[in-house]
Amino acid sequence: MFEDIWAYVSLAPSLLLLLTLSVVYRYLRHKWLQPQATLTAHGKTQQRDGTSVTPSATHEGAREGDRPQSLPLSVNYHFTRQCNYSCGFCFHTAKTSDVLPIEDAKRGIQMLQDAGMQKINFSGGEPFIVQRGKFVGELVRFCKVDLKLPSVTIVSNGSLISEKWFEKYGEYLDILAISCDSFDPEVNELIGRQQGKKNHLDSLRRVRDMCSKYKVAFKINSVINTHNKGEDMADYITDLDPVRWKVFQCLLIGGENSGEDALRHAESYVISPEEFQAFLDRHKDVKCLVPESNEKMQNSYLILDEYMRFLDCTKGNKDPSKSILDVGVTEALKFSGFDEQMFLKRGGKYTWSKADMKLEW
Ligand code: SF4
Repeated sequence: MFEDIWAYVSLAPSLLLLLTLSVVYRYLRHKWLQPQATLTAHGKTQQRDGTSVTPSATHEGAREGDRPQSLPLSVNYHFTRQCNYSCGFCFHTAKTSDVLPIEDAKRGIQMLQDAGMQKINFSGGEPFIVQRGKFVGELVRFCKVDLKLPSVTIVSNGSLISEKWFEKYGEYLDILAISCDSFDPEVNELIGRQQGKKNHLDSLRRVRDMCSKYKVAFKINSVINTHNKGEDMADYITDLDPVRWKVFQCLLIGGENSGEDALRHAESYVISPEEFQAFLDRHKDVKCLVPESNEKMQNSYLILDEYMRFLDCTKGNKDPSKSILDVGVTEALKFSGFDEQMFLKRGGKYTWSKADMKLEW
């Protein structure tokens, strides 16, 4: 017995040394595995020593061993370009009718979650046009039930959403944003924000009521342009009471709504920064207003197209990366043009789970 105790005591210094080495090793390993750089405005890369470099614009230019520059915390997946509306300033136009098979889309979403994604927004085109909403519904359910993503959201024009959809999928959706640029039906018609003679404002109010009934947070997106810049929307917005009212400045994107090969030509819709500011000033008392100028908007969104390619808008058009399904998220992310600092500055990280919002339904 005495010999056993003596043996443990004599081993103690060695065990202490081993423990110390293990702690030092873990500290150094953790330090070396931190990202070495973060993105700054204008697509430059901020190094740890404070200097900045411009990343290569080509895939061939990416060096082996480059580290991911930022986390894809919040991703916008534009899985379709098809739409039943024809807004004159649309900046994600119907250049293809392709949609990935749903199993590929799910695989890509799983990869994004593995890379750090916490929020996914499904957008288009019009997300409810594919399989009458079943496609987006199944993705919403997959993200919330299987992946348990904190935030699952959709941006839609609202015209194709049925009550049956809400019954089946509403519980899995955190936020539904509906686009509305005017409360004057004639202006909506002029912009192209409607299908045929169907009143867009009727769709907006119908969806707002269903969001309330099925406990989905309701949001409104508006694009301010030459046709609505003088409008006072304060009373309408206050009455609809969205959790957020995102107000964008009309933006030109080469190849989408500007230039020879574009399907839309939005030059006549563009307003100046001063006109945008005048609109914001007129609505300064609307509490839920979240303004987004072109400067804030252009590079602060991670956009995935219908092939799951990141779209880089830094040069004023949408340059695609390779698909994350082919090269992985880390590699594709190097060509996304994503400005993480601007994402944070524009308030890209907010209370985005409906479970965390103190909503009265
Ligand atoms: S509703 Fe959206 S996707 Fe459809 S045409 Fe208008 S801006 Fe484009």
